[in-house]
Amino acid sequence: MPNDFPSHASDPQNAVIIGGGVIGLATAIALQRREIPTILIDSPPLAPAASWGNAGHIAIEQIEPLASRATIRSMPRRLFWRGGALSLPLRDIAAWLPFALRLVVATRPVRFARGCAALSDAMGDAMGAWRRILSGIGAADLLIEDGHYIMWESAASAAQGRARWAAADTGCASMRDATADELERLATLTSAPVAGAVHIAGSGQIADLDALGAAMRAGFDAAGGIRIEARIDRLVVEDGRAIAIAADGARYAADAMIVAGGAASGPLLEMIGHRVPIIAERGYHIQSAETGWPRDMPPVVFEDRSMIVTRFRSGLRAASFVEFGRSASPADPRKWARLRRHVAALGLSFALPGAEWMGARPTLPDYLPAIGQSGRAANLYYAFGHQHLGLTLAPTTGDAIAALVAGEAPPFDLAPFDLNRFGA
Ligand SMILES: Cc1cc2nc3c(=O)[nH]c(=O)nc-3n(C[C@H](O)[C@H](O)[C@H](O)COP(=O)(O)OP(=O)(O)OC[C@H]3O[C@@H](n4cnc5c(N)ncnc54)[C@H](O)[C@@H]3O)c2cc1C
Repeated sequence: MPNDFPSHASDPQNAVIIGGGVIGLATAIALQRREIPTILIDSPPLAPAASWGNAGHIAIEQIEPLASRATIRSMPRRLFWRGGALSLPLRDIAAWLPFALRLVVATRPVRFARGCAALSDAMGDAMGAWRRILSGIGAADLLIEDGHYIMWESAASAAQGRARWAAADTGCASMRDATADELERLATLTSAPVAGAVHIAGSGQIADLDALGAAMRAGFDAAGGIRIEARIDRLVVEDGRAIAIAADGARYAADAMIVAGGAASGPLLEMIGHRVPIIAERGYHIQSAETGWPRDMPPVVFEDRSMIVTRFRSGLRAASFVEFGRSASPADPRKWARLRRHVAALGLSFALPGAEWMGARPTLPDYLPAIGQSGRAANLYYAFGHQHLGLTLAPTTGDAIAALVAGEAPPFDLAPFDLNRFGA
């Protein structure tokens, strides 16, 4: 249970957050805004943080957890060696096989339905939370609320894709067929046939992720937060309270200790007895600084290729792949080569080869994040495991943790996100 210890934190004097990705930063800003002095500890990158290399899409339409029977059914045809985006590297089988077994169990219809309800609840105010956090740090211009497009290259895939999306629960977002003008515009971006497209309204994008990181760090600093560059090696419990110990031996204690280290959160929490079946679900992108792709074009999902293309201020990014493994395993250059082939086949305005990036989504087997208060120490909280939705859910997650720390009701029900669902 999350509240095995009485919350003594109704008047917390300070907080420490481990992890300075978008989840840690959003939480840090939310705490600092509540006048809880906060220290944010982030390590120099061992592996690139997903937060600054993702597709930039505020995906409020994705309230169906990917732990679904449909995902399992689609896996064989989505395998990398068959031209798809799903990769199960043999070298990492010890990491993904147990994860895959848990994933299959999590797809049971009753769990899927509960997951939809939980994500729908968490997603309800995701866009509003982005508006608030960005206007609070003077960076409202970084949020673009123009929705996005999904397009298909053949009549058959358009019919199937459109039917799939029409049947999906998309929460507060809505779908309509692209208009003739929109289809014409899409056709100017690619030499491939535009056989069909839909527009999703209600979703959005971040105008630039590097600018976002800089703005969030500056906003936290300006609010009086303290950032420390260090790697936390150990989490220990002393007198019922969690203490973080850095690689150089420095000890950090606080009324609220929050683990928000993305895919690296698992080992830390396992040190104090939590069961955390997290996996590094790795994705890849290439980015071209030079591009004629219009600045005001919302993200476009080329669904036949499982690829999303986003126009950032800093250039055009093509992202894809779901590679289950370990964060520290070497990147697979075939993934970047495949992205280049897609970009060339689509005739996108992109100066190949483009800058290469790979990073890990923190993913739990039921494709729900872990957000809550630990029962292992009176001052311990966690916020990680946001899989494909970490950018989307960052501010609302930060609001939820800040409310918990302050002893208030969180903005959405956190019971489905309790880490103890994997066993105490
Ligand atoms: C290719 C790709 C595309 C994606 N597209 C989208 C999208 O369009 N929309 C969306 O919503 N999401 C998207 N995601 C998912 C999203 O990027 C992640 O869910 C999110 O970034 C996770 O953020 P985080 O802060 O939890 O973790 P991270 O970004 O991994 O940050 C964790 C930070 O904690 C630090 N850290 C970890 N352990 C320690 C330690 N022990 N001591 C100190 N510091 C530590 C790390 O160095 C890192 O800086 C995408 C992901 C990928 C890979």
